[in-house]
Amino acid sequence: MKALVYQGPGKKEWVEKAKPVIEKPTDVIVRITKTTICGTDLHILKGDVPTVTPGRTIGHEGVGVVEAVGNAVANFKPGDAVLISCITSCGKCDNCKRGLYAHCADGGWQLGHLIDGTQAEYVRIPHGDNSLYPIPAGVDEEALVMLSDIMPTGFEIGVQYGRVKPGDTIAIVGAGPVGMSVLLTAQFYSPARIIMVDMDPARLELAKQFGATDGVQVGAVDPVAAILEMTGGRGVDVAIEAVGVPATFDICQKIVAAGGNIANVGVHGKSVELHVEELWIKNINISMGLVSTNTTPMLLKTLGTGKVDPAKLVTHRFRLDEMLQAYEVFGNAAREKAMKVILSA
Ligand code: ZN
Ligand code: ZN
Repeated sequence: MKALVYQGPGKKEWVEKAKPVIEKPTDVIVRITKTTICGTDLHILKGDVPTVTPGRTIGHEGVGVVEAVGNAVANFKPGDAVLISCITSCGKCDNCKRGLYAHCADGGWQLGHLIDGTQAEYVRIPHGDNSLYPIPAGVDEEALVMLSDIMPTGFEIGVQYGRVKPGDTIAIVGAGPVGMSVLLTAQFYSPARIIMVDMDPARLELAKQFGATDGVQVGAVDPVAAILEMTGGRGVDVAIEAVGVPATFDICQKIVAAGGNIANVGVHGKSVELHVEELWIKNINISMGLVSTNTTPMLLKTLGTGKVDPAKLVTHRFRLDEMLQAYEVFGNAAREKAMKVILSA
């Protein structure tokens, strides 16, 4: 089969590789029908994630059809259409039992990281019973791919950890795919005002189509001064960081209102300067974490309602064997006006 393989910093190849086989009784082999590329994959390819070793097939998102199941798999059989979670979880350990699948004793972020991932024709999913979800009939497969990672990440780490409430004023710093997922899922709670912050005016325009009430363009205006002015000097109830660099975290700590929340969603490679000397008196909370995808069943139910349509994040479509072209487009997202790309087998 063909797979996209990391070959060391700056090197990737679309190569012929052995098809995965059942290794443990709890394994499921899935034939990929649709997959996508994540910003995390770009970090891996740059060499920013040293736990990914050369030879690894990357990718942690996708949908497909069950090809084979191990003896201990009870929930799936060959031919079943499934959604792959970016998080592998046994469902039985202490952390899984409290829904913290991100820290499963025999799982967590494994796919396209510690084991071969989904940017391939086939993938082996450990603990298939708990790490796959049956696809409801009639649901748009492109929308489903957004539920492997970005929608639960935006919802769990941005909206739930940020404690977004009805009537809140919230700011989302970063209008990439995960920031947009925060924007879509925050609307479950009817915040009064959603301020989107980004450097790219095209992304801010798209955010307004997706429900943002205001856009603040970094580079054109001072985002902190602009947001404080918009909120009468008060700041925002929830400041959500969806980039992962010190400058965007800094915006969040300067715009959070007294009693508010800073929800960090971005993946950081460098330390940030935490202004505890200014924040201590403001009664705020700061949260961060890795998605557990424990909200995936809930998000799946909302797809059918039409209230949230994650398929609108898809801007480009490719065949699976056009993987390298898809990387070229996604890797130059601003130039190509790309949000999410879909690769279909
Ligand atoms: Zn991802
Ligand atoms: Zn577990």
